[in-house]
Amino acid sequence: MTALRAVTPTYVKRLERVGVHTIEDLLRYYPRRHEDYSKTVPVVFLKEDAKQTVKVRVERVSVRYTRSRTGNRPVTEAILSDDSGRMKAMWFNQPWVASALSPGDEFTLSGQVKKQRGGGGLVMMSAAIEHADRGSGLHTARLVPLYREVQGLTSRWIRDRVAQALPLAAGMRDDLPPEVAERLDLPPLAEAIAQVHFPADHEELNLARRRIAISQLLVMQLAVLVSREERLRHRAPVVPYDVERARAIRDALPFTLTNAQRKSAHAIFTDLAEPRPMARLLQGDVGSGKTAVAAMAVAMTAAAGHQSLFMAPTEILAQQHARTLRPLLQRLGVNMELLVGSTPASARRTIMAGLESGFINVVVGTHALIEDPVKPRSLGLVIADEQHRFGVGQREALAQKGGDLFPHVLSMTATPIPRTLQLTLYGDLTVSVLDEMPPGRQPVETRVVPSSARAEAYDFVRRQVQKGQQAFVICPLVEDSELLQARSATSEHQRLQEEVFPDLRLALLHGRMKAGDKDAIMEAFKAGDYDILVSTSVVEVGVDVPNATVMMIEGAERFGLAQLHQFRGRVGRGSERAFCLLFSGEDGPGEGDNRRLQAMVAYSSGFDLAEVDLGIRGPGDVLGGSGMQSGHDSGLMVAGLLDARLISIAREEAEKLIAGGLERHPHLVEAARAFRLPGSLS
Ligand code: ADP
Ligand code: MG
Repeated sequence: MTALRAVTPTYVKRLERVGVHTIEDLLRYYPRRHEDYSKTVPVVFLKEDAKQTVKVRVERVSVRYTRSRTGNRPVTEAILSDDSGRMKAMWFNQPWVASALSPGDEFTLSGQVKKQRGGGGLVMMSAAIEHADRGSGLHTARLVPLYREVQGLTSRWIRDRVAQALPLAAGMRDDLPPEVAERLDLPPLAEAIAQVHFPADHEELNLARRRIAISQLLVMQLAVLVSREERLRHRAPVVPYDVERARAIRDALPFTLTNAQRKSAHAIFTDLAEPRPMARLLQGDVGSGKTAVAAMAVAMTAAAGHQSLFMAPTEILAQQHARTLRPLLQRLGVNMELLVGSTPASARRTIMAGLESGFINVVVGTHALIEDPVKPRSLGLVIADEQHRFGVGQREALAQKGGDLFPHVLSMTATPIPRTLQLTLYGDLTVSVLDEMPPGRQPVETRVVPSSARAEAYDFVRRQVQKGQQAFVICPLVEDSELLQARSATSEHQRLQEEVFPDLRLALLHGRMKAGDKDAIMEAFKAGDYDILVSTSVVEVGVDVPNATVMMIEGAERFGLAQLHQFRGRVGRGSERAFCLLFSGEDGPGEGDNRRLQAMVAYSSGFDLAEVDLGIRGPGDVLGGSGMQSGHDSGLMVAGLLDARLISIAREEAEKLIAGGLERHPHLVEAARAFRLPGSLS
């Protein structure tokens, strides 16, 4: 990276924060969007609120200082003109502009025009400037790329570095076979990279994006197809669909199934009865009854003489699942054990022996179960909670456990993915959805709290605690740094404990704590040893504290909808009414942020929120944020025009490549294999 001009060690660190480690990463740090400043107009034609460019001569520049909350801030003012007339431009906090604008020289300015207060004329605010002769032409008078920025890393700075690195794009490896590029009439990779950053016009931008999106989708679809082919090569133990038995299982449950649960259970029983391994995803909001459905599948499998492994992402979640499952499975006559890191060696040996003899029907644990030398007598079913992404090694380990047979796999997730995107994301998985809550659950009452009502909100929390309830306080997201995040949570914890709730018991949870310490804090909070848990986003995953009734989220505008919904799912698990209070930063939420927060108020279902999210962010960002990584590309940031049609084109091309023999494309196979599909085991 330091081969590039101006990339000092400080900038290396900043770039690392956005995942850019190499020049190739930088070239693949695609813009989030472009601002269209391609239209240059004479000064007299400037229009209020429009984004426009002018080419003007500098007449006068002055700097004055105004007082603000954070001290004195410099305001630069310039008087500029072209043949048609004169205009004014202003910049706040950018003193360097004054020294750059040398009077008499010609500059291009791109910016938004506002009406001056107090009846003045039009003024261009915070415009980007470039010298008309000596400028690079990257920042004004064009489609200007905007990147994801973090503190100290501006789009302007990134543009200059990307432009400098562009010649190196010619040496980048291209995953897209030439035959596909030719069939779809797509430009070469280096050209597409240059154009996706600095397109001449919208048409060029769209073609470049399409080129890059297609190669990402192609790898994804190949991964899906290869994985399915491998899966279908295996045989799975058959668990007969015995209707009487299914009825008995249903009747043994202490509640009536929802329709959605009934349908999902039926689909799973049908899959289990097939001799090929099931690959099904059970999707449903927290509390929709996924675990109960999984229990039925375990019971059915046990009745046919096969065993199950139930895996959760963390030890504490495994313990929680065991607690939900134990009473259900007991009624169903199923023998369950919990196996986690803290299980004593002697108990561990007993469990191993029980599995090998077939006496134990199901073991609940973490994903470490795959690596453990656990060898069930006849493994029939694997349940993976929260979309575990299986790597090649884990797949093989699991195949071994099954002997000649490969187990059925049921993945479960509370993260809703809009239906339109399911094919891309889950390709090889069949999806069942629990879109209905068990009766009697009331939605969590959600409000956006203005900063003027902060004190009242704290009073409200205090009253809830006095009633014996508990509360979560989520701290704002601080860039991408876990360290800064931990620091901010620590100081918020201190502030609340000392200044706001000195008489209450507050606990702190963040990602820099040791796993054991985190679990201990969560357990203590669950046990009621604390009134308020101040936490970073680590609390997101499914920890269950029925006594907690308030979820307070600071800096709510910084979180994505899916994440906000996950936080909210932490409360309202008991019989009491629950509340979610959303705070936004000092300046209040921006427009898109506000739509997200209002959506939280309006909708309680994760699926509705997922559709809203898709509408606000577009499919590229929704997929990008879902943690999908295709090889070395930074998510699917560029897939701005990702739509069902593009996915099916990629699918068709993947099928053609397979039909023509994949061995002709070894690097594609490698990329597809490295791709981790959610929940898909084979
Ligand atoms: P999830 O895993 O989707 O979060 P669970 O299966 O853990 O949901 O169910 C949440 C709670 O609701 C559990 O206590 C469970 O026993 C209960 N439950 C599940 N299904 C029903 C139902 N159909 N009617 C009433 N309660 C149910
Ligand atoms: Mg659950």
